[in-house]
Amino acid sequence: MEYLIGDGEVKCLTPSGEIAPATQKEIGSLSKKQIAIRSDGLIVLDEKGEVVWSTRKRYAQHFFPLSVVDYARAIYAFERFGKPLPILSVDSHDTLECDFKCADCLSGCGKSLPIEEYPKDNFKMPLEFYEHILKEIVEYSSRRGFSKVRFEQSGEGNPDFYEFRPEILSFAKRNANMGIVYVTSGSQTDDSLRHSLIENADFIRISFPGIGQNAYRFYSGQTDFTYNDSMKNLEKILDERRKNGREKDLMVGARLALRSEHEGAYLDFAKRLREMGLDVIQIVKILVPEYKRPEDFPVTSLAMEQLQATRDLENPSFGVSLPHSLDSMYYSREIEDRREFPQQCFSALIQPVLMGRSLFVCTKSEVMYSQAFRLGTFQGVPQELEQFLSPAQVKEVTKNVPGECKSCCSIYDNMLMHSLQGVIRSIKSGLRFYEVIK
Ligand code: SF4
Ligand code: SF4
Repeated sequence: MEYLIGDGEVKCLTPSGEIAPATQKEIGSLSKKQIAIRSDGLIVLDEKGEVVWSTRKRYAQHFFPLSVVDYARAIYAFERFGKPLPILSVDSHDTLECDFKCADCLSGCGKSLPIEEYPKDNFKMPLEFYEHILKEIVEYSSRRGFSKVRFEQSGEGNPDFYEFRPEILSFAKRNANMGIVYVTSGSQTDDSLRHSLIENADFIRISFPGIGQNAYRFYSGQTDFTYNDSMKNLEKILDERRKNGREKDLMVGARLALRSEHEGAYLDFAKRLREMGLDVIQIVKILVPEYKRPEDFPVTSLAMEQLQATRDLENPSFGVSLPHSLDSMYYSREIEDRREFPQQCFSALIQPVLMGRSLFVCTKSEVMYSQAFRLGTFQGVPQELEQFLSPAQVKEVTKNVPGECKSCCSIYDNMLMHSLQGVIRSIKSGLRFYEVIK
């Protein structure tokens, strides 16, 4: 039996696809984290309660602590009732400092940004100024009826290096009611940062460059912090989460890239993490090396077996996220079929990116490094975000997107919004949106 959760109600989805009233109380007491781990797609019902559209792609880790239903509702309100879109999520890159030298780093290990092209002091983020930016964002969204903006901090470097991290985490949670996602290797996570994360974060995700004691040196030129150090760091996080009673709502996960050297190692790695008490593991494809094609790097049969066995480790308290198709080791974000791609970029409107003090339309490197795609730079005055995201400014900055975007860093989000837009426009009845829970 599966369940549907949305609009504060729960329904059953029978194995034959019928919608029935929920009978099990158990599902009603699940925390947001538990729902996210068990999430298995989105279903749209019309006024008669009939399924009019569904997708079984999993978005849970990607949107958490929001859900795909938040995105669907925002697009629905915009399309059907002309309500302006709020910012749902902001991805903040507030430090360029990094102690890793990953071969596949998109930001050249935090060093390839043309700093001189940014406004003066763009990457100086005193605590008060950062607080002003977050306040602007949440007030902007709150004026548009949305009160829990997702705040992801991942650095264009190692976010642990930002000097006021414990304080900004606390401000974001306590004063701005934001949903906090923190992505790090953990190499510089000290006691004070860990305490603040345990107290304030919704999701801590540890990135592993590779599996095994030599992996950090091999993939990231890092010898001061090793695979074993990362495991110890994870143990400390999980231990402190338990001591603070946050097991039910603080998600802790790991992210690992598909690598040919790991073909026989995925399963043991995932088993170990599950035994430690981790909630989710995400194994991802990384971008295809320049001038190559993804199909030049097929997944071996051993890797395929291991990945399928890893998927089978999944249970209601351990989520496994694998690439949607396991046809190759790498992926390309190339927009292959323009007819299938939206005419407007939703991502730029609902999940812009902060680079220091500047707000950009998205994270794609060729866009992020181009000042033409800067929506504005915060100066510290009230309601300045209204100007950055005014219809005229957005129209001007995004006039060539997605038309001139050869590839898209938010391709799945944009395709999802595009599909929803099509459903909302073609079905005139009132629609309701539900997350499917396994
Ligand atoms: S940790 Fe991130 S920013 Fe640093 S080198 Fe690796 S990929 Fe680049
Ligand atoms: S790459 Fe282009 S279409 Fe994709 S999110 Fe960025 S601006 Fe939008």
